[in-house]
Amino acid sequence: MSVPLSRRHLFRLGGASAAALALAACAGSSEAATAATPTVPALPDNPTAAQALQALKDGNARFVAAKPGYPNQTATLRASLTDGQKPFATVIGCVDSRVPPELVFDQGLGDLLVCRNAAHVVDDAAMGSTIFGATALGIPLIVVLGHNSCGAISAAIGAIETNTPAPDAVDSLVQAIKPAIKAAEGKPGNRNDNVERAHTELTVALLKANKVLAPLVTAGTVQVVGAEYDLASGKVTFLG
Ligand SMILES: [Zn+2]
Repeated sequence: MSVPLSRRHLFRLGGASAAALALAACAGSSEAATAATPTVPALPDNPTAAQALQALKDGNARFVAAKPGYPNQTATLRASLTDGQKPFATVIGCVDSRVPPELVFDQGLGDLLVCRNAAHVVDDAAMGSTIFGATALGIPLIVVLGHNSCGAISAAIGAIETNTPAPDAVDSLVQAIKPAIKAAEGKPGNRNDNVERAHTELTVALLKANKVLAPLVTAGTVQVVGAEYDLASGKVTFLG
C-alpha cells in the first residue's frame, strides 16, 4: 500500500451520475441529471471521525433506499489512485457474502480500508492492518461491523455448547468468539444476535485498548465504533 497524498477525492460522481449528466447535457437539462442519481459530496482532505461517520451513515441511507450514488468508480478516478490512497474509514467486518462494506455504505475505490474474516475476529493480522490504517494512512474512523443471523457466530455457539471442537483453523475463530458467548449468557432475546452484539462490543473494546490505538482514541484523533447490519433492510445501526 502506498503512502497517501494530500489529494482527496476531487469529485465523487459515480458512473451512473456521469452517464446521467452526459444524457442531460444532450437534452439540455441539468435537472434531469440531478434527479437521476445522487451526487455524493466530497469529504475534506483530512476529515474528522465525525465527518467520516456521517459519510458512512449517508451512504447507508442511499443503499437502504436503493438509490446508490456509486461514488469513485469512474475510470478517471481509478487511474488517479495510482498516486496513493487516503481512505476515510476502516471497516472490520464479517466475511459473509451478504455484507460487503463498499456496497452497504455506498462507497467506491479508495474510500474504505476493509478487513474481513468470519465474524470480524481481530487477530494479529487484522489488528496490524487496522493500526497501519490509523497511523500510516491517518484514517480517523474504525468501524466494527457485525450483522444479524451470522453463520460464524451460530457455528461458534454450537461448537462451544456441544463441546465439539471445530476443525483446524476454524477453532481459532471459535475461541475468539467464546468470550462473547459467555458475556451473552442469560440475556433475553435471540441468542445468536445477543452473542453478535457482545462480540461487536468486545471487539470495539479490544481495539480501544490496543497500545498503539489507545492514545489516538484518547486524543480524539481516532474513533472506534460498533455497528450492526440488518440483512433484510440493509440498514446499519451504529452502537453507542
Ligand atoms: Zn457473519
